[in-house]
Amino acid sequence: MALIVQKYGGSSVADAESIKRVAKRIVDTRRAGHDVVVAVSAMGDTTDELLDLAAQVAPIPAPRELDMLLSSGERISMALLAMAIHSMGFEARSFTGSQAGMITDATHGAARIVDVTPIRLREALDEGAIVIVAGFQGFNRDTRDITTLGRGGSDTTAVALAAALEADVCEIYSDVEGVFTADPRVVPKARKLDAISSEEMLELAANGAKVLYIRAVEYARRHGVLIHARSTFSSAEGTLVVDGARRAEILAKGEHMEEPVVAGVATDLSQAKITVIGVPDVPGKAAEIFKIVAKSGANVDMIVQNVSAASTGRTDISFTLPKSDASAALKALAGEQHDVGFASLVHDDQIGKLSVVGAGMRTHSGVSATLFEALSIAGINIEMISTSEIRISVVVRGDDLAEAARVVHTAYGLDGDAEAVVYAGTGR
Ligand code: ASP
Ligand code: MG
Repeated sequence: MALIVQKYGGSSVADAESIKRVAKRIVDTRRAGHDVVVAVSAMGDTTDELLDLAAQVAPIPAPRELDMLLSSGERISMALLAMAIHSMGFEARSFTGSQAGMITDATHGAARIVDVTPIRLREALDEGAIVIVAGFQGFNRDTRDITTLGRGGSDTTAVALAAALEADVCEIYSDVEGVFTADPRVVPKARKLDAISSEEMLELAANGAKVLYIRAVEYARRHGVLIHARSTFSSAEGTLVVDGARRAEILAKGEHMEEPVVAGVATDLSQAKITVIGVPDVPGKAAEIFKIVAKSGANVDMIVQNVSAASTGRTDISFTLPKSDASAALKALAGEQHDVGFASLVHDDQIGKLSVVGAGMRTHSGVSATLFEALSIAGINIEMISTSEIRISVVVRGDDLAEAARVVHTAYGLDGDAEAVVYAGTGR
């Protein structure tokens, strides 16, 4: 008998029928003899709808009240799920984040978990109940207020519960069958991976893969939680997110003896590019520019500085950042144009970022050449390049991104034989 934590995302509990289907799945796990703790997201697009509603009554909703509002989404789904399980003849008890002992810092809208004290959950388990916990929310001891963990936070709730309860596995259910070599909506020939290392998963998640949230993967890595990403709509095995050594063992048992150089391809359309034109090429200008950008609250990703033209002694600096940060950064830079001494600013929100990720890059050469060649044959222009130890990213035109992902996927030999199955719409 194992202790299994299961997380169901919004698309898995979108309506009454779906909730009943999830309830049955939970009951089946219980029938197999396991203890079950469930973290559940708000139904469908509830969180977005609540955010819209808040925006209609206040231009900038008070953060404390916004968390009160948003946390109600998960209370609805947890209670309905517990009722559905009850009516199938099983004991189930739902708990809010604070009842479950999810203790966070006081940052509304982006709270970090500081402690998990699942006393009531243990009691309920000891009494034979199935435990349902509202995802995405916690409680701060100093302010005594309800907090939320940031969008997609239910994954983190599930992993944190799994760590605190020393669960055998944390199963994260969504509408895709696991982690794929690329988003199957973009690359139909994407293949499901049996296992992926947590460091590769972190890079994929940081670069646009939506199947798992980066904070949950980080938390799992730090606390040694085994994640199993799988689909609510099928009983197929999904993808195990494990440490590198464990993954090598799993690969050795299967058909692939050798670690693939590239584990997957991620795509991201959420970034914009800002170019600062005519920056005086003297020490200190990059520092000035990025201090201004940082103060605007923007999160800069890639940076490229051109060679300066000898005749002018000036250069251009381009960087990427989330689209939602761009207007604040542009405003801040424009305000300091005179002091920094640059000529003008260009804003481009039609870019796409493609990343290839693989731990095997450390020991193989020619990985980037394959990427550039595939793009060149497809006639796709590269605008920026950045690399880490296990990742290469390029910026291309947003319109070219899907095509770029497909040709690169093929070039690395990642294509599967059949088309990937996509059950619902969002990847969550
Ligand atoms: N309901 C929250 C959201 O939509 C949390 C989650 O789904 O994980 O972001
Ligand atoms: Mg959601």
